[in-house]
Amino acid sequence: MMTRTLLLQMAGSRKMEHFARHNRIAASLAQRFIAGEKLEDITAPVRALNQQGMSVSLDFLGESVSFEAETAEVTDTYLRLFQHIRAEALNANVSVKLTSLGLDIADALAERNLLRILQAAGPEMFVRVDMEGSPHTQRTLNLFYRIWNSEQGFRNTGIVLQSYLHRSAEDVEDAIRAGVRVRLCKGAYREGPEVAFQEKSEVDASFVRLMQRLLTEGNYPGIATHDTNMIDAVKEFARQKNISTDRYEFQMLFGVRRELQEQLVQQGYRLRIYTPFGEHWYPYTMRRLAERPANLRFALTSMVRG
Ligand SMILES: Cc1cc2nc3c(=O)[nH]c(=O)nc-3n(C[C@H](O)[C@H](O)[C@H](O)COP(=O)(O)OP(=O)(O)OC[C@H]3O[C@@H](n4cnc5c(N)ncnc54)[C@H](O)[C@@H]3O)c2cc1C
Repeated sequence: MMTRTLLLQMAGSRKMEHFARHNRIAASLAQRFIAGEKLEDITAPVRALNQQGMSVSLDFLGESVSFEAETAEVTDTYLRLFQHIRAEALNANVSVKLTSLGLDIADALAERNLLRILQAAGPEMFVRVDMEGSPHTQRTLNLFYRIWNSEQGFRNTGIVLQSYLHRSAEDVEDAIRAGVRVRLCKGAYREGPEVAFQEKSEVDASFVRLMQRLLTEGNYPGIATHDTNMIDAVKEFARQKNISTDRYEFQMLFGVRRELQEQLVQQGYRLRIYTPFGEHWYPYTMRRLAERPANLRFALTSMVRG
């Protein structure tokens, strides 16, 4: 628990990021969790996943951007990404963090950038708006629903809700009422007891409750977890309620529990792999290490041995 807190604290440090970006060991640690630094790097790993029967969601790493010009670069990268996905005929959609589009600068800026992305995506390409730490939850949902309820009527987009937040039970009901597609995950940020469950058992129980609501009433939910207890709960519930495998999908992260990923596909379940790329890999990698500090030990020992 201590290590998790420390790693999550380090994830938010700009100084540590600067250090890590210029450190060979840190960079090789990151490689396990990202598909590459450049747009061209992603083709081969995405195609390999597609060939194994898995779809993909591509995330351009670039959270908490502080200058408007940077948000334009991130937005342009998404537009180029759409061209790339189409040109290479990849089975992939995209995920985007609103802070990378300028949410920490001004809501209106993030909204303009997201609109550009949704327009360029077109009705066939789905754009998932990732969820970040709790200071961003309400603003992310406000912005999302403004666009959802606007005259343009974009339907090629959806949200993420985190089972560790107390508020998510209500947010799930709102999404069900509006017909919004939800990715359900446990939540990856450091959150206090005022907003979030602190015990794993509580986070898991909440996950199961929300999963059951989404599976019965939701619009094609994405169930994002590597936890076999959660996965078994989904399979069992779907079997009991006669919910066919094309009404939802499992989602997992690139490089995490590969054998479990293959197993699910072999068993006939839909699986999408969240696949990040880009140079700004530091905070993402730190959150992955915080989820399983053993990864850090494993990576360091294998590097020392190597
Ligand atoms: C597709 C996808 C999208 C996500 N999007 C968001 C988002 O938008 N916002 C957000 O806050 N969070 C997001 N997350 C992260 C999520 O909130 C959790 O932090 C993360 O998935 C770990 O929780 P878990 O459900 O896998 O269960 P846990 O209880 O954390 O882990 C269960 C088991 O899975 C294995 N495992 C978990 N993580 C790792 C790892 N990094 N390396 C190796 N093994 C591991 C371990 O064996 C562990 O015992 C996303 C996760 C996925 C899979």
